[in-house]
Amino acid sequence: MKGIKSVADDLLKYPNSQARYLIHKYCFNQKINYWLRNQFPEDSKDFLDEFKKTQTRLIASYHGIYDQDTVNNQSELFTDLYKRVSFPIANGGLALRSIDSVYLSAFICFMAASSKYLAEIFPDWIQTGIVDNVHKITSINENISPYTNNQIMSCAEKIQSIVSNGHLEGLTLPALIINKLVELSNQKTTQLELEDQSPDDSLGLYDPIFKHSSSQSALYQQLIAAEFDKFKKDKEDLANKPNSQRPYNQLYYRNFVSLINPTSGAWLLAGMSHPSFILSSFEFMAAMCRRNTTSNTSIPQYNRHVPSDNPQNYQCSCDSITKDIDKHGYHMTACKKRGNAIRLHDNAVHTLVAFLRSLGLSVALEPMHMFSDLESDDNRRPDILIRNPYGGGRQILIDVTVTGFDGSTRTHNNKPEQVHIKRRKQKIQKYGTIADANGFDFYAVVFSTTGKMDVIIKNLLLEQIRLKLQLVDGDVKKSKVRKIIKHCVSLISAAINRSASRNIFLNATKMANLARHTQQNFSSSTSCDLTSSSASSSSDDLIQQFELQIMNQNVLQI
Ligand SMILES: [Zn+2]
Repeated sequence: MKGIKSVADDLLKYPNSQARYLIHKYCFNQKINYWLRNQFPEDSKDFLDEFKKTQTRLIASYHGIYDQDTVNNQSELFTDLYKRVSFPIANGGLALRSIDSVYLSAFICFMAASSKYLAEIFPDWIQTGIVDNVHKITSINENISPYTNNQIMSCAEKIQSIVSNGHLEGLTLPALIINKLVELSNQKTTQLELEDQSPDDSLGLYDPIFKHSSSQSALYQQLIAAEFDKFKKDKEDLANKPNSQRPYNQLYYRNFVSLINPTSGAWLLAGMSHPSFILSSFEFMAAMCRRNTTSNTSIPQYNRHVPSDNPQNYQCSCDSITKDIDKHGYHMTACKKRGNAIRLHDNAVHTLVAFLRSLGLSVALEPMHMFSDLESDDNRRPDILIRNPYGGGRQILIDVTVTGFDGSTRTHNNKPEQVHIKRRKQKIQKYGTIADANGFDFYAVVFSTTGKMDVIIKNLLLEQIRLKLQLVDGDVKKSKVRKIIKHCVSLISAAINRSASRNIFLNATKMANLARHTQQNFSSSTSCDLTSSSASSSSDDLIQQFELQIMNQNVLQI
C-alpha cells in the first residue's frame, strides 16, 4: 500500500491532469487487478478502503481539487463521484473501474484459470474428467483446503446477491462455479473472433475493459452493469423528487442520461496522440466538472458578504430571462450573448468539413446565395455543401446545430433526444423544401454540447466512408469503416469538448476581471508550458489564438 500511495503522490504532482487520468486508467488500475488475483479475498479486504481513498484523491484532482481536507469534508459527494467515474465511458463514467467489483471477481477467476494446473499437481484435491466431450472438474475435495473453498463460495455468494440471473446463478458448489468460469473464458474467445457486428450496431467505441478476453471480464461486466442500473435508478428517483436542498438533481440526471451513448465520451478514449486531443489542465478540469456536474472552482461565485460584489456580474439574460450563471459551466458552454454558441457551432462545423475533405470530397463551407434564383433576397446559408458525394447521388447540403441538453423542449428526463428532434424539425422547415426544389439532399445535423452525435450524420458518414472504400479498395472491410468512423467521432467529440472548455475559460476570466479578482492561473492548450500559462494570458489573446487555429485548420470559405 505504501508503494501505491507514493505512486499516487507522484501522479498528483504530474502537471498535466489529462495525462494523469490516462496513466491512472491504463496503468495504475491494471496493476492492482493483477495483484488482487493472487490474493485470498479475506487477506486483501483491508486494502480496499485505503486504495479507494488513494483513487479518490486522484479523481478529485481531475476536478481541480487537490486539498485533502476538502475531499474529507465532502465524503458523500466524493463517494458518489467515485461510483460514477467507475462506469464505462459510454455509460457516462470515466472507465476508472470499481475496485469492489474487481475484488469480487479477481480471485475466483484466477482460481478458474489455474484449476487445470492445480488439478495436475494436487489430484487428491481437484479431480477432473471428461464430461460431454469437455474436460471438466468433476469434484473438489472440501476437506483438503476448506479455507480456499470458503473464499470461493463467499465471493460467489456476494456476486449472486448483486447480480440477479447472472452467470453464477443457482451454482452452489465450488466445482460448478469454477467450471462455469472456465466455460465463460472459452466462450468469450470464440465470440471475439467473429466479425459479425456491423458498424451501425456498435461504433466500436466501448471500452475494452480487460485486454484479454476472460471470465473475469464477463463477471466484471455483469457486476458493473448491476451497479450502474442501481446508480441510475437512484439518480432518477432523486430527479423526480423536488428537493429545495438539491435543486440540481434534475440537471444532474439529465446531463448524466445525455452522456449515455458511444460518442459523448469519445474524446476521453482518443488519448493524446493528436494535438487537437490535448487539453490544458484548466480545459480538462472544466470538461470534468461539466461531465460530472461538479462545481468548477474557477468560475467566480457571487458572495453577498462582499459589498463590492455586484450580483449582475454573475447573471446572464441571453435566454430572455435573467438567470444565475451555474457553477458547472453549462451556461457558459453555449451562452448566446458572448459569442460562445457561435464558436462552439463553428468549431464543430470546421471539424466536420476537415474530415469530409480528408475523405476526398469537394466541400464548400457556408456557401452564399444558394437559393437566390428562387428568392433574390434569400440570405440563408447552410453550413456545408458536398459537391461530389460518393455513390453519385444528388449534391448534399448539411446544416449543423449544437444544442444544450436541458432546453425547454426536453420534457422527459429519460429522453435527451427530444431536444435534437425539435431542432432538426426547425431546420428542415427552414431548408427542406427549398433544398429539394434546388436538387439537393438536405441533412439537418444536431450535436449536443455533451458531444452526443445524432444518427443522421452518423449514417451519412458511414455511407460516404463505405462508398469511398468501395471506390478505392473494391472490397469494403467493416473493420476499416469502423476505424475511420471512430476517428471522425473522436475528432468531433474532442472539438465540441474543447470549445466548451475554452468558452468556460473565456467567461470565467471575464467574470473574474469584472469582480476585480486577481487573474487566475489559467492556461490554454496551445500554450501549455508553464511560462506562457502565467497570469498574463488574457481572454483577448486567446481569441486571437483561436482565430489562428481556425485558419490553420485550412477550412477557408470557398
Ligand atoms: Zn448567456
